[in-house]
Amino acid sequence: MSQRLAVTVLGATGSIGASTLDVLARHPERYSVYALTAHRSRDALLSACLRHQPQIAVIETQADATWLRNALRAAGVFTDVQYGAEALVDVSAAAEVDVVMAAIVGAAGLLPTLAAARAGKRVLLANKEALVMSGALLMDEVAQHGATLLPIDSEHNAIYQCLPAGLCGGREAARSQEQRLAKNGIAQSGVTQLLLTASGGPFRGWSADALAAVTPDQACAHPNWSMGRKISVDSATLMNKGLELIEACWLFDARPEQVQVVVHPQSVVHSMVAYSDGSVLAQLGNPDMRTPIAYGLAWPERIDAGVRPLDLFEVARLDFEAPDDEAFPCLRLARDAMQAGGTAPAVLNAANEVGVASFLDGRLGFGGIAELVARVLDACPVVAATELDAVLDADARARHEAQVWLRQCPSY
Ligand code: NDP
Ligand code: MG
Repeated sequence: MSQRLAVTVLGATGSIGASTLDVLARHPERYSVYALTAHRSRDALLSACLRHQPQIAVIETQADATWLRNALRAAGVFTDVQYGAEALVDVSAAAEVDVVMAAIVGAAGLLPTLAAARAGKRVLLANKEALVMSGALLMDEVAQHGATLLPIDSEHNAIYQCLPAGLCGGREAARSQEQRLAKNGIAQSGVTQLLLTASGGPFRGWSADALAAVTPDQACAHPNWSMGRKISVDSATLMNKGLELIEACWLFDARPEQVQVVVHPQSVVHSMVAYSDGSVLAQLGNPDMRTPIAYGLAWPERIDAGVRPLDLFEVARLDFEAPDDEAFPCLRLARDAMQAGGTAPAVLNAANEVGVASFLDGRLGFGGIAELVARVLDACPVVAATELDAVLDADARARHEAQVWLRQCPSY
């Protein structure tokens, strides 16, 4: 490679951020680190800056920025330290940047991800909530500004690898969800179904009654993947698979009924694509996010990700089963929200973020998350989601309704 690609890592102190920095460090001849961002983890951001020496670091508050600047100067590192939401947008859209890893968790990642798309960057999308909230807008920005959108979520990355080239990234602008679904890109390529695998999370096989008493630490103890706490709870409720179903619809122009969720407890088959001639293509590998991250960074080439090779004799067997919609209603809520269209997925996402935060704080039971999401979806009107203001209003309204419900709910 003649010229190194400059990379911004949004959410550098998180689980995906750390895996990204690990892959980048393996290939200093290919990549330079332009910017690293964090929310409040200033010690972790300091360590990352000392190791990777980015041009810019971004943190939430002015006080943390001053602390970080002083600590870096004392170590002889002259990274420019900025703070606040606008700085996140700036380091995503800067002319010097080639690749943006969107790995902030939740709705907080929306504006910088949109900015990266609008600036025509290669966007590596881990932050699924941004796409769930604003699918029409984000795909439209990608198409209009010639950005490249590569899915990092392991399932979508697997599907991307199993699809004919060019079926992701919003090649044609289409303002509404209805238009995009009518386009139905995958069917034109002989694809009949996207098979989205799910580990089933730590509570696979549990009844709704048994789930009532689970604790945050139990919910965060994922059997196969090591992840941030929010996505770990989402995996336990199966809301993660619901968000991923919506994500797949937007990325691949699929209808919700073309996406089948398949519980696969070993997490070795990362997802599959079924074709009209009976072929089913799958992508396999050890459950390690460095594989999709390396794929996104090097695309269309392949590089070493530091991932242990898959030993099929060690895996020995692959199991598949249907999800339990009764015990885990979040999957159905997400499917219904995608079918309702407009701002319904943004409402679902916001209510879920409030529900998960309340569960992690010990203020809401595990089953309360799905109940809260269902109540908030009922309380919020669905409007078109083709303008950013409509999406942000829906997000704010849903968070308000969630707080109202939490104040009235007995387990609060
Ligand atoms: P983590 O919680 O581990 O990390 C989140 C990152 O976002 C941290 O750097 C955090 O900073 C930063 N952050 C959090 N809130 C804000 C905010 N308000 N403003 C700016 N930055 C913020 O999450 P993960 O790495 O697990 O997940 C990141 C995204 O990737 C999520 O959308 C998740 O769904 C998705 N994903 C994750 C996978 C995984 O294996 N972990 C797999 C597939 C998708 P700080 O440390 O300072 O709080
Ligand atoms: Mg996933």
